[in-house]
Amino acid sequence: MNEDTKHRSRHTPVEMSSEEFKTAGYFLVDRIAELLGSLPERKITPGESPEDVKQLLSSQAGLPETGRDASGLLERAVGLLLDHSLYNGHPRFWGYITSSPAPLGMLADLLASAVNANVGAWKLAPMATEIEAQTVRWIAEFLGYPTEGDGLPVSGGNMANFVCVLAARVDKAQWDVRRQGMHAAASTMRVYATHETHTWIHKAADLFGLGTDAIRYIDTDISQRMDCLKLRQTIEQDLSAGDQPFLIVGSAGTVSTGVVDPLHEMAEIATAFDLWFHVDGAYGAFAVAADDVAENLSGLRKADSIAVDPHKWLYAPLEAGCALVRKKHALRDAFSYHPPYYHFDPERTNYFELGLQNSRGFRALKVWLILQQAGRRGYAQMIAEDIQLAQHFFDRLTDYPSLEALTHGLSIATFRYLPLDLRETADAEASHNYLNELNEKIMLQLEQEGEVFLSNAMIGGRFALRLCIVNFRTSLEDIDALPEIVVGVGDEIDLQMRPEVLRVST
Ligand SMILES: *Cc1c(COP(=O)(O)O)cnc(C)c1O
Repeated sequence: MNEDTKHRSRHTPVEMSSEEFKTAGYFLVDRIAELLGSLPERKITPGESPEDVKQLLSSQAGLPETGRDASGLLERAVGLLLDHSLYNGHPRFWGYITSSPAPLGMLADLLASAVNANVGAWKLAPMATEIEAQTVRWIAEFLGYPTEGDGLPVSGGNMANFVCVLAARVDKAQWDVRRQGMHAAASTMRVYATHETHTWIHKAADLFGLGTDAIRYIDTDISQRMDCLKLRQTIEQDLSAGDQPFLIVGSAGTVSTGVVDPLHEMAEIATAFDLWFHVDGAYGAFAVAADDVAENLSGLRKADSIAVDPHKWLYAPLEAGCALVRKKHALRDAFSYHPPYYHFDPERTNYFELGLQNSRGFRALKVWLILQQAGRRGYAQMIAEDIQLAQHFFDRLTDYPSLEALTHGLSIATFRYLPLDLRETADAEASHNYLNELNEKIMLQLEQEGEVFLSNAMIGGRFALRLCIVNFRTSLEDIDALPEIVVGVGDEIDLQMRPEVLRVST
C-alpha cells in the first residue's frame, strides 16, 4: 500500500457507526431504566465472596489478543454489573456516607464523556469551563459562602481537603515553601484537629511534608465537639515552644457520628492567632440549607476554606467533590506554573493552574444539572427530610427494649442490639466483649440478607450499628421497618451465640 492511500478510508476497531452506537446506547439506557424501576425489589448486595466475583471474569482471564463486537461486550458488562453490585441507590441503603445517585447525573456523565471536554484549560473546554465556574459559584451560594474566592471541582472529599490544606500551607508558610520545600521550615508547622476528623488528615500531613506528628489532637467535650478552651491552650503552648501553628480543622459533620464542631468559636480563635481555618464539610456542609441545623453549621461561612462533597448530600453520582477558598487567587498561588509548551491565556480560567490535576474530566456537569433540577429549596427539603428520618428512627428506639440508642447527629444515628437481660451488666468485661461481637455479627448478617444495609461506628469502645441517611429514596416506611428487622436478626444470633456464663438462669 502506498503512503498516500493507506489511511484514506481507515477502519479502526474502536469506531462505531452511528447506527451501531444508537442500538448499543438504547439497549444500555433501557437496562438502566429497568434497574432504577426495580431497585426496591432487589437485594441491596448479592453478598458474594471475592472468589465468586473473580470467577465470573475467569472466562476471559488474559488480555484479549483480538477485538470483539461492542454490543456483545456491553451486554456482558451490563449483566456483570447489574447482577453483582451493591446498590447504594436502594431505598434501604444506609451504610457509610454514600448517597443514592440522582438519575439525571447518570445521563450528565454520559454527555460529559461524549463531549470529552478537557477542563484543564479554557481553550480546550470553553463551555465546560464556564459551567464548572458557575457550579462552583452556585455551591458557594448554596452554603452562604463568599462567591468571589477560588474554587475547584475535584474527585471527592479527600481531594477537596488536600487542595485546601495545600493552599493554607503556601499562604501561612513564612518562607517560599513551593521552592524550598518543608525542610526549610524554621520550626514545626502545627495542625489542630480532633480524633473525630476523617482520616484524610493523616494522608495530608504525611504527603505534604508536615508529618503526622505535626497534628495536635484536641480533646473533645462530652458531645464529641472540639473543646475550644483546650484548643486555645494548646496553640499558646506550641507558640511558646517556638512551633508555628498554621491550620485549624473543623468538621461540619464528622464521618462517624455527624457531630458539628463549634465552628463559630473556632473561627474566632483562628482569627485571634492569625491561623487558617479550614472546615471539612464533605458530609454535612450542605445541611446548612436545612433550617433545623443551620445555626450550628453556619460557622462554616467564616472559614478560609471548605471541602464539600456533591457526591454525598447533593446526591451526585461518584465522583464529585469541591474545594472552596475565601481568598481570591489562593489556589493559583498554591498551584500555578506556566510551562513554555502551554499557550493558554492566563486571564482566562484554566483549571490546571488551580489544583493538582492537569487534564480534567467534566465532573461539574452532573452537579450543575441536578442543582437546577431540584433548586436550593428542593435540596433544603430533601436534606431536612433525611435528617428528620434519622431523628425519627432514633426517637423510636425507646419503643424497643432490646435496642439501645447511642448517638444522633445530622442524618446519622448509632445504636446497638442489647438484650434486656444484659442491660445491667453491659459494661462488665464479658458482656462488653460479647455485645461487640454480637453486634458485628448482626451487621454482617443484615448485609448478607440484603434487605437493609448499615455500617458501624465505635462509640466509647462499643461496637455500634450506624444508620446514615443520605438517600432521597428512603421513606418513613423504610425506616419504620428497620427496628424489627434488627431485633429479629439480633434475637436469632443471640440465641445461637450467647456463651453459657452470660445466660441468665431462670
Ligand atoms: C466522606 C468524607 C471524607 C472523604 O470524602 P471522599 O469523597 O470519600 O474522598 C472526608 N471527610 C468527611 C467528614 C467525610 O464524610
